[in-house]
Amino acid sequence: MQETARREGLPEDIAPWDWRYLAEKVRLQRYALDDAEVKPYFSLENMLAAMFDVAGRLFGLSFEERHDLPRYHADVRSWEVSRHGQLIGIFLSDNFARPGKKSGAWNSIYRAQGLHGGTSLPIVVNNTNFAKGEPTLLSFDDVRTLFHEFGHGLHCLLSNVRYQRLAGTRVPRDYVELPSQLMENWALVPEILDRHARHAETGAAIPPALVAKILAAQNFQQGYATVRYTISALLDLALHQEADGVDDPSAFEAELCQHYGLPAEAELAHSLPHFNHLFNGGYAAGYYVYLWAEVLEAEAFARFEESGDLFDAGLADALRRHIYSAGNARDPRQTFQAFCGREPSAQAMLKKRGLAS
Ligand SMILES: [Zn+2]
Repeated sequence: MQETARREGLPEDIAPWDWRYLAEKVRLQRYALDDAEVKPYFSLENMLAAMFDVAGRLFGLSFEERHDLPRYHADVRSWEVSRHGQLIGIFLSDNFARPGKKSGAWNSIYRAQGLHGGTSLPIVVNNTNFAKGEPTLLSFDDVRTLFHEFGHGLHCLLSNVRYQRLAGTRVPRDYVELPSQLMENWALVPEILDRHARHAETGAAIPPALVAKILAAQNFQQGYATVRYTISALLDLALHQEADGVDDPSAFEAELCQHYGLPAEAELAHSLPHFNHLFNGGYAAGYYVYLWAEVLEAEAFARFEESGDLFDAGLADALRRHIYSAGNARDPRQTFQAFCGREPSAQAMLKKRGLAS
């Protein structure tokens, strides 16, 4: 970026307000992905098949589409989900944007799993807002989103607890993104890409060079992003530990930034007076949860990588029993340990973000 600054006639000491401008220049030069090149390999239809394939290989699930079930909109598709021939729930998929539909992506529960007072089978829906096409083609970020929400869906579908209030995703906030973020990893598994990331017109498999480019683009600017996220998470936690409150938020944040050595180029993304997460919507002292979930999921996926088989049957079974089925009926720390056999460390997350030395 300093080279780029020199070429542009800007000071080589990069000011925070010049960072994004320079970063975008570098990104375009080195990491830009051409959507027209990427998208034909990721049709929605193929990626749904890829998701179901992953769930089949890991958890023994099979998905049978049902066209006769009542739906709230014609875009919605529904599948009966079975495990070893036994019905375990209904999975709905509502993938297209339309007038009046909320934007973004999410997983909703129509009925939670439970055993108390009779068996309750889960009914869940995954929502995204893709533009409908013939066929619908996705960017790689869209594919990750699809797998992410499917992770929440599987957390609900595989739930095996007594009380609905403790089922599936009804876990502490700093744990709920583990099953979803973890599932994103399988979108990039070579054998899944090879089988499902097929060109919509030619049927050709995605070239490995293009996959390498996608991976490199994912890690671009991770140092900057991680530093900015982490300092805000630390500030949030620090503020909530001040029993007597803080008189001067600006002095408080300046002192903390200095304490942690925040680089001047990075600057705070959320200065305290406009840091909406601090006291809002159940997030109080909870800004850290996404990175924490990433620590957990990177550690969990590293177990598969270390085994040499990303579909290792023993690990997959432990993953189902200890994580996807456990709901909030057991202490998440214990269930995570039961799967991983160790306490999580930051190493796997740093490696995944391209930050490990
Ligand atoms: Zn999520």
